[in-house]
Amino acid sequence: MSSTSATTQGVIPVHLLKGQKALVTGANSGIGRATAVALGRAGCDVAVNYVAGREEAEQVVDEITAMGVRAAAYEADVSQEDQVVAMMDRMVGEFGTIDILVANAGLQRDAALTDMTLAQWQKVLDVNLTGQFLCAREAVKEFVRRGVVPEVSRAAGKIICMSSVHQIIPWSGHVNYASSKGGVLMMMQTLAQELAPKKIRVNAVAPGAIKTPINRSAWETPEAERDLLQLIPYDRVGDPDDIAHAVVALASDLMDYVVGATLYVDGGMTLFPGFATGG
Ligand code: NAD
Repeated sequence: MSSTSATTQGVIPVHLLKGQKALVTGANSGIGRATAVALGRAGCDVAVNYVAGREEAEQVVDEITAMGVRAAAYEADVSQEDQVVAMMDRMVGEFGTIDILVANAGLQRDAALTDMTLAQWQKVLDVNLTGQFLCAREAVKEFVRRGVVPEVSRAAGKIICMSSVHQIIPWSGHVNYASSKGGVLMMMQTLAQELAPKKIRVNAVAPGAIKTPINRSAWETPEAERDLLQLIPYDRVGDPDDIAHAVVALASDLMDYVVGATLYVDGGMTLFPGFATGG
């Protein structure tokens, strides 16, 4: 195929990220899985991180290697410093380097404030915020060591933080999750400011409602989906490829001047849909 050929999905130029090495955390499910596959389709070699569910991770690896690029599954809990350091060492040893980090792993532990345990609060902050900090720190060490390789990319490295519309929309009953994503926004912007002079681009993708296991109850019955659609001007619930395609674009040199931005991929959820008819 030529470099202008599209994928079977007809949207990703197959050589957009040719030869780049990408790590996607939480890549054996939902958005992470779709992102890992899309990066492979765009020409990346892909490290598929997982914390549980080795079989699913191996399926993702098989799907990616079938495209003619490399992939490997790496087990690590992103909230554990020693495991993140070991994962990055292994990736650099086996892949040679890292060019793209997609800090995607995340979870919810929902409860009303007075029912929320410290363990629920801490777990969500540890995975969703500290996990992204640890992965970013270790990736940046390698970006800085290696520097820009012009044949590969104009940047020395790209980090895409998986945030959420809840980095700016308060979310009752989810104070741990909304706080973690609010933290991701400020972490992302601060890292972008700190690292831009080193030619490292840090950005975020903020999904709206995407059909994945994390929010199954919000879309799995017709009634729940109808209620959810009230919040989405574009009138459809998103799917993981909607996010994966945004990540691929942001990671590519097409977006080389995009630094410290959040790309909301939400069908308009952040447009205050209640004001379409009220206000
Ligand atoms: P998901 O549950 O399908 O995937 C989450 C992934 O993170 C899983 O692979 C899980 O095993 C992994 N993970 C959890 N804890 C981990 C840890 N300690 N170490 C490594 N991996 C870990 O859900 P998803 O919807 O695909 O979520 C992916 C990201 O997208 C999350 O950061 C989530 O907050 C964000 N997001 C999702 C939505 C949505 O509507 N689905 C909306 C906004 C943001």
